[in-house]
Order: sequence, then structure tokens, then C-alpha cells
Amino acid sequence: MSYSHDVLVVGAGLAGQRAALEAFRAGANVGVISKLHPLRSHSVAAQGGINAALGPGDSPEGHIYDTVKGSDYLADQDAAKILCTEAGPCVIEMEHFGTIFNRAPDGSLDRRAFGGASKSRTIYSADRTGLALLQALYEELGRERAITVYEEWDALELVMKDGRVHGLVGLHRKTSKIEGFSAKAVVIATGPAGRIYGKTTNSHSSTGDGNAIAYRAGAYLKDMEFVQFHPTALPHTSILITEGARGEGGMLKNSKGERFMERYAPNFKDLASRDVVSRAIVTEVREGRGFPDGTVHLELMHLGREKIESKLQEIVEITRKFIGIDPVTQGIPVFPAQHYMMGGVHTDPKGATNLPGLYAAGEAACVSVHGANRLGANSLLDTLVFGKISGAEAAAWAKKTSSATVTQGEVDAVTTRIHTMWERKEGETVVKLRNEMQNAMDEKVGVYRRPDELLAALAKISELKDRYRNVYVSDKSTTFNLNLIEAIELGNMLDQAEVLVAGAVARTESRGAHVRMDFPNRDDAQWLKHTMALPSKEGPVLTYLPVTITDYQPKARSY
Ligand SMILES: Cc1cc2nc3c(=O)[nH]c(=O)nc-3n(C[C@H](O)[C@H](O)[C@H](O)COP(=O)(O)OP(=O)(O)OC[C@H]3O[C@@H](n4cnc5c(N)ncnc54)[C@H](O)[C@@H]3O)c2cc1C
Repeated sequence: MSYSHDVLVVGAGLAGQRAALEAFRAGANVGVISKLHPLRSHSVAAQGGINAALGPGDSPEGHIYDTVKGSDYLADQDAAKILCTEAGPCVIEMEHFGTIFNRAPDGSLDRRAFGGASKSRTIYSADRTGLALLQALYEELGRERAITVYEEWDALELVMKDGRVHGLVGLHRKTSKIEGFSAKAVVIATGPAGRIYGKTTNSHSSTGDGNAIAYRAGAYLKDMEFVQFHPTALPHTSILITEGARGEGGMLKNSKGERFMERYAPNFKDLASRDVVSRAIVTEVREGRGFPDGTVHLELMHLGREKIESKLQEIVEITRKFIGIDPVTQGIPVFPAQHYMMGGVHTDPKGATNLPGLYAAGEAACVSVHGANRLGANSLLDTLVFGKISGAEAAAWAKKTSSATVTQGEVDAVTTRIHTMWERKEGETVVKLRNEMQNAMDEKVGVYRRPDELLAALAKISELKDRYRNVYVSDKSTTFNLNLIEAIELGNMLDQAEVLVAGAVARTESRGAHVRMDFPNRDDAQWLKHTMALPSKEGPVLTYLPVTITDYQPKARSY
């Protein structure tokens, strides 16, 4: 059996759902394929909020400037302008779709402070903003009953011919059947790839499949070396403690009781941008001013029980249940963990990739609005603003494109590859290979990067790619075979890890979240450019693309 649509969206998080809705409203026959139930997409875990310059005295210009400065001048300023000028209408539209945001006493949308922002412009729903947005959007999508959602289907490979997209091949988790989906346009909205790391705030499903699928088909991956580490995650589990906790007035303290951010960022203090705060925490701990468990503490006690329990409900529940600490009376131990990929599938500001008919949006895409460091609460915004634009563009492309086909031969080619792996009688386990990859990334490609460690990580990833050719799937059953799914995801992660580390080795400067111990300064003369990767038999081939600068010339960055 095969399925056919004008526009097929891969992923049903905020970016995918918004793209699907817009493509449908533009008249396309739309399908959405998602490996998870839509409401389990990682977007549901977003806590702190979504930025829009809606407050008195604020302006989209201020938001653009903060975003460009936060990006360490690597963001494309034409794209940042779209993000920030569309922010107000986007948030109000989500409000009209039914999102329940916190209100100020005068009834307007309440705002909280967030890192790297010169004004309080983060609109929020307590510390469950992702849940509130995703539910409202899902209900809106449900009203458009003609959109077909294929739940628990994994996209495996794109089908490309005549120089354009014709659809993809997918696997149904329920039956392990592999089938074709023809589509004139495909939108990649597969979300984060944080699971390349072991210590990450991302959900287990965040394996960046779409990045790898697009890359193997010939799409550029852009700026993959820029990895955001969130300053405040719990030790061991790496569960996120939202930046909203500092936005509400939380403070970071070292073991001497010092509010150390005063030294690193005299003006913004605890609300400096994330790269700055993460480096400060790692430095405090390395220099012996951390607690014995290798953390610093996030203190909320001075905010009082009522504020903590009403505005940070999730945080209270997480800390009480997972580590037995009550933030009303005790400091929360925190340390940075992988949180967000600034890089992804290269697109122009309309969501188009270099492959005709292929679009990307959300965390899987790199437009680029976040450059070398994303500001907190700009990602939910990115998913919705560029989800909408890419959906409209995909529908417009489909309208002017003749029919798309996926042949049985094309499905069989993918099936053979998957079955060869699946039917293998022995080999290395997925868990072993994945642990080795995650350890290499955690230890050698972290907040501070040393050239010898980066090279060791690159060699390790290439060794793991070789060993992956002999990966062994012990589970041979055909119903919800997660062993098989994890093997497929691991292959996708190894492809991305290789690009990520190759980009980090090549970039001999420090910018935003990419900090080289041997090149501690930003080098605009050499490196004010995007890294672009394409696959080859010998590994990633890197080329570079100029950054679009319109209004803001690069200058030194301080908080
Ligand atoms: C814990 C946490 C808190 C955060 N808090 C905030 C915040 O407060 N503010 C903010 O701006 N940002 C926040 N972020 C970042 C933000 O939430 C994400 O960047 C954003 O939600 C990603 O949305 P998305 O639609 O791109 O991807 P996702 O929501 O992850 O959706 C991806 C979709 O792709 C599907 N998929 C993946 N692979 C395949 C495949 N092979 N085949 C088919 N389907 C596939 C999945 O099923 C899923 O539906 C947070 C992130 C985390 C991890």
C-alpha cells in the first residue's frame, strides 16, 4: 500500500503541526507522519515561555538586537527580523487558538524576564508553556479533519528523483511494515537531536532523524558545531530547571555562598545568555568553588512559598520527587547539560532547503535565527513562525509541481537495507555503541573544547560508524520493536555527530556556545560564516556561507 499527499510534514511537534495547518489552509492535501503521538513531541516539555515584544516600551527592534547579540552575530539578520516582527501576531494567534497564558493583574498577557533579553518579554503558562501551546494547536489541527495524521510511523529515507522530492519511505511501529508516501513537498520538522549526548535535557525520542535523512539525500546541514548547554539541569538525570526560575528572581550560588554571576556578567548577572552562564558554572566547579557533588546551587527560597508554588509548579514537583529537595527551603543542585542544537537542515528564510520540494522548520532547521547561541524562549517562537511560513511555501510549491511517485522498487531498496540489519544473527548491541557515542560527546565536545579531545571524538565517531555496520538487533518481533527503532535512530545520530565534531574541529575560533581553549577569541575576519556540510564517502565535506548582516555590525559582546 502507499499513501499520497501534496504536502507531507514529518513531525507533529509545534513546528510540524503549524506547518501542516498552514499548508492545509493554503489548499493542499496534507499528511503528517510522526514517530510519536503528536502530544508526546518534545515541544510538550518546554517550560519557561515564548518571546514577543508586547510589553510597554518594548519593540521588535529591541528583540531583534538582543537575538543577534545573543547569537554572537552569527544569526542571519533578515531571518531574525522575520522572527521578531512576527512574534506578537504569532503569540496572539496562539492565544486565539485557546492557549491559556498567565495574566498580569490588569488582564494583559503577563511577561517574565529571560536570559540575554533587555526587556521582560517572555509570555508564559506557569512552567508548562510547551504543553499549553501544543494542546491548543492540536485542537486547532483537529478542527481541520481533512489533515491525515499517521501516528507512530518513522520516516526512514527521502525519495529523490528528477532533481526533486517525490516523498519518503516510512516504517509503521505497530506492524514494522515499510511503505511509501508520495508527496510533492516534504517538510522536515523532526525536532531536536540532543540524544547524541548522554547528559541532555531532551526526551529519548530527540534523535534528530530528519537532519540525517535530509543530509543523506543531499541537503546541507548548517552550523552543527553550535550546541547549547543549558546552565541549570539536575545532576544525573539532566532534567531541566527552567530559566524562568531565574526570570522570577532565582540566583546561582557557589559553595562559598557567593552570587558568582556578578563577577562574570555585572549587568545581566544570572540572566546573562546561556553560553555565558554555563561557562561560569563549569569554571566555578573546576576552580573548586562547587559543591562536593560537582554542582552549584540555584536558590529560590527568597521568592517565598506562594510565588514558587504558583509560578514554578513543575519545578517544585520535579525537585521534590526526583531529588527530594524542597526549593521553598533548600537550594537546587544544578549543572549544565546539552539542551538545544542551533544547527540543523539549512533553509532560507522561507524554509526552503537546497533540494527542490524539501522544506524544514523548528529545531531540525537552521534558518538561522539563533546563530552561535540561542536566547531562551526564542525556540518555541521559531517553531511557530517558521512552521507557518514553511507550510505555506510547501503548499505553493506543490501547487505548481506535477505529480509525485514512490515506486515499489524504491520502497524495496530501503526495506532491504533495514532487513539486512534486522536479520543479522550477531554483532554489537545498540546500547553499547550508543553509550560510547554519548560518552565521547559528553566528555570531549562539551562547554569547553580542546583540539586533542575534538580530534579524539572525531576518530571515535568514525570508529563507531564502522562498527555500526555490524549492529545487532536482538528483538525479531514485528510489533512495536523498539530495539529496531533504536538501531535506526543510532545510525541517524552517528551521521549527525560526525558533522557536528568535524565542524567543531574546523572552526578555529570561539563564538557563542562553541568555545575552543586553543582559540579563545571570536575571529570575525576568518569565521563570520556558516558551516555547511554535505555527505561524501570520505565523510562530511565542509564549505562556508556568508552571514546576512543588515542593521547590526558585529561588536564585542558583554552582559
Ligand atoms: C526540557 C525542554 C524545555 C524547553 N523549554 C523551552 C522554553 O521554555 N522556551 C523555548 O522557546 N524553547 C524551549 N525548549 C526548546 C523547544 O521546546 C524546542 O526547540 C521545540 O519545542 C522543538 O519543536 P519541534 O516542533 O521542532 O520538535 P518536537 O516538538 O521535538 O517534535 C518533533 C516531532 O518529530 C517527530 N519525529 C522525529 N523523528 C521522526 C521520524 N523519523 N519520523 C517521523 N516523525 C519523527 C516526533 O514524533 C515529533 O512529533 C525546551 C526544550 C526542552 C528539551
